[in-house]
Amino acid sequence: MAAAVTQESVLESVPTGLFIGGRWRESASGDRIDVHDPSTGSVLATVADATVEDGRAALDAAVAAQADWARTPPRDRGELLRSAFELISERAEQFAMLMTLEMGKTLAESRGEVTYGSEFFRWFSEEAVRIGGRYATAPNGATRLLTTKQPVGPTLMITPWNFPLAMGTRKIGPAIAAGCTMVVKPATQTPLTMLALADLLREVGLPDGVLNVVTTSHTGDVMEPLIRDPRLRKLTFTGSTPVGRTLMEQAAGGILRVSMELGGNAPFLVFEDADVDKAVEGAMLAKMRNMGEACTAANRFYVHASVAEEFTSKLTQRMGALTVGRGTEQGVDVGPLVDEKSRDKVSSLVQDAVGKGARVLVGGEVPSGAGWFYPPTVIADVPPDAEMAKEEIFGPVAPVSTFTDDDEAVRLANDTEYGLVAYLFTRDVSRALLVAEALEYGMVGVNQGIVSNPAAPFGGVKSSGVGREGGFEGIDEYLETKYIGLQL
Ligand code: NAP
Repeated sequence: MAAAVTQESVLESVPTGLFIGGRWRESASGDRIDVHDPSTGSVLATVADATVEDGRAALDAAVAAQADWARTPPRDRGELLRSAFELISERAEQFAMLMTLEMGKTLAESRGEVTYGSEFFRWFSEEAVRIGGRYATAPNGATRLLTTKQPVGPTLMITPWNFPLAMGTRKIGPAIAAGCTMVVKPATQTPLTMLALADLLREVGLPDGVLNVVTTSHTGDVMEPLIRDPRLRKLTFTGSTPVGRTLMEQAAGGILRVSMELGGNAPFLVFEDADVDKAVEGAMLAKMRNMGEACTAANRFYVHASVAEEFTSKLTQRMGALTVGRGTEQGVDVGPLVDEKSRDKVSSLVQDAVGKGARVLVGGEVPSGAGWFYPPTVIADVPPDAEMAKEEIFGPVAPVSTFTDDDEAVRLANDTEYGLVAYLFTRDVSRALLVAEALEYGMVGVNQGIVSNPAAPFGGVKSSGVGREGGFEGIDEYLETKYIGLQL
């Protein structure tokens, strides 16, 4: 019988050093960083604090491994991903516990992320052997045009804390499939899941140097020299728009290839012909997945005036019935936010809206006691000049406003610098398609509150980023097209 998964056992099994060139080691300074439990504020573990020199060593290892890795048969790269997918699935409970401990979400949500995150390895294990090219006759008839795809080369991956596994596998999976080596820098709040994943990839036989992981509290100082290093060929980042902007500026020096998965400000539209119960169900998913700490979280609810009262009262009732507590405990629906700064931001956005005339229907009060908890909250009559109408809330707060016709709904939805995902609920297929086409977003969920799917191209437009992760498109981000002209 498998040993029971306990908090102590998972924490003991995670390596906490830097993973460079296939080996675990301490940082050059010997310094460590504390990793906190957001439900208590106490220290769970410490991890190595990389210096500039350690960062460079990680890139050295990735550069040294690149040529051999690019020559590895695609089938071997695919099989490696497949083995990793199977081992993550076998250890799903360990990964789920680890994520809940460092990030706060409930075990049920963490299990969902293990399924979602590991699926990127299965999907890209299948894509590794489908990298193709073409053969064509040039218009003059005398030359032949050949194209082939080659790995971009050593890639720097910077990931956020909100999905500690999936935001990594969405990049690592296609990079392995394409034949790129990499340096990964997980978020400082949640490094443990990535360290456990690196060790699992070592275990299934990923060659030394293909994947390197550095954890650091000197983030900008350690990352910038790597971004400016001419040996680096690609930067892929998931995180906030302001940091993404800075990184794009740094990447411009070397004309580095970039993929940016940035912030969102998702509108959630409910039309007068919508199935309101289905819309409320979708709203709960779009708002409460990950406690609202998702780039895809519904940030602004716009409901047709004729169904607004029914929708709002049902949503308020559902939000008020959720149980808040530590993610490891049974019966808990909503865990804490990741840290004090995040909770302060959510709380100040609510106070700002209330100060400008919005009404709190449920929640809205910071609870006393340890941990960074915030209650599920519904707010009505949020004016357009409220900060939360413009900014990502990143917490369990649903602001509801009304509209009276389709043009107004689309105008309100598009009135933001962001363009990641929008949701709409209607029974009318024509309206669904016309509105979906008019929305300036990379993704649109129709009658569904979740769009994330490893088989689909995930990504945004405008200030939400460039590039796509997942789907057939995901591997192209790690490939260059080479054209060979051949005179007969
Ligand atoms: P963040 O503050 O931008 O941090 C993301 C990552 O960037 C972390 O690893 C962070 O490291 C690193 N970083 C921060 N400053 C840096 C710098 N100067 N140079 C290099 N790296 C730097 O974002 P977050 O708070 O972790 O994540 C939340 C944000 O991510 C939200 O805006 C959310 O919408 C976005 N997100 C987008 C997607 C998407 O697919 N579009 C998915 C998930 C999340 P440290 O932890 O060490 O600071």
